[in-house]
Amino acid sequence: MSKIMIIGAGGVGRVVSMKCAQHPAIFSEIMLASRTVSKCHEIKEAVVAATGHPAFSTAKIDADYVPELVELINSFEPVMIINVALPYQDLTIMEACLQTGVHYLDTANYEPKDEAKFEYSWQWAFHDRFKEAGLTAILGCGFDPGVTSIFTARAAKHHFDEIHYLDIVDCNGGDHGKAFATNFNPEINIREITQNGRYWEDGKWVETKPFEIHKKLNYPNIGERDSYVLYHEELESLVKNFPSIKRARFWMTFGQEYLTHLRVIQNIGMARIDPVNYKGNEVIPLEFLKYVLPDPGSLGENYSGETSIGCRIKGVKDGKEKTYYIWNNCSHQAAYDETGAQGVSYTTGVPAMTGAMMFLTGKWKGAGVFNVEEFNPDPFLEKMTAHGLSWQEKVNIDLEV
Ligand code: NDP
Repeated sequence: MSKIMIIGAGGVGRVVSMKCAQHPAIFSEIMLASRTVSKCHEIKEAVVAATGHPAFSTAKIDADYVPELVELINSFEPVMIINVALPYQDLTIMEACLQTGVHYLDTANYEPKDEAKFEYSWQWAFHDRFKEAGLTAILGCGFDPGVTSIFTARAAKHHFDEIHYLDIVDCNGGDHGKAFATNFNPEINIREITQNGRYWEDGKWVETKPFEIHKKLNYPNIGERDSYVLYHEELESLVKNFPSIKRARFWMTFGQEYLTHLRVIQNIGMARIDPVNYKGNEVIPLEFLKYVLPDPGSLGENYSGETSIGCRIKGVKDGKEKTYYIWNNCSHQAAYDETGAQGVSYTTGVPAMTGAMMFLTGKWKGAGVFNVEEFNPDPFLEKMTAHGLSWQEKVNIDLEV
């Protein structure tokens, strides 16, 4: 029986709210807090109608401000905060957790607003303070980062003595019927994919131009898709926590239509993150673009097809070379039918709820700041399957990478 506070009422916040409310024995009191409180009310109505959760409340919060967070946290007294607002709020929420003695979980690492730069240094710097306070912070507990790291931990625990090559492969084989839309927050998404690519090889980072390395890869139940190497945050913690890795890359699929739109957006300056003066007001083009693109949370209704995300791994077991592929496929339609949100929000929200469940039921513990691969993958993967995301694995197959 625990009180939980969810911050962020977007597509992911909707799924986390719904999934936590399905388990009132663990998440006995839930507060959903966000900047636009009407979105919290709308989610609450849907969640309570679907689950009958008896103690679901909402609140308005601007999570950029620590004193505001501290006041709300002290009034509700949650055990843990699930942060599914934007990565910009990670540090203020972690600071507020320290000031109020509350545990923390998120799905995306901090990035500064004025620079598209993803690294864990800012959040890892909180380790000693969380440790001294006897508090737990769980970083990156969505799908990627999140389940991809837990899949790697499973591979290391059950399939390999040493992992040498890790390729994380992320395919969205879905069709939402729009000319252009992003599957999660457009600002965060476009910042992520338009920066230079980077992968780990022989002890150092190798930088690439955006979309420079690409290949056709086959995805289960979807088929062949153009896949591109880009930088993704879990690579940083995985090469630290599994030092036998010689090369680690992250691949994501993009259709040609999507890439053409992206190129135009960049060429006309709409991906800029520096302010421009518009009629006496400062406007950041990428922030403005978010308001004219489709809301990712609204894509669900006619979204067909599946996502397929997994890890393709080569390494050594008992002196022999081995290959291993572990993945999940998620149907956008099934996700929408259950939660009112599309597959990308679902594959992020289910792991966030499952991670919180691991902590609240004592399966994952420790004082300090942790990436998810540092915990036992087995109970997590068991519960994740039970709560809507199953996974499959194959050994000694052609990995294509
Ligand atoms: P949305 O943009 O749909 O939702 C974000 C929510 O956070 C909105 O409700 C927004 O409020 C709220 N918010 C923003 N700023 C503040 C603030 N200062 N104070 C309080 N609330 C705020 O994003 P998604 O739901 O798609 O994504 C949520 C998070 O999940 C992001 O951090 C994203 O990077 C992460 N993610 C992780 C994935 C993974 O696999 N690990 C995959 C996909 C997403 P408002 O309504 O007012 O704008």
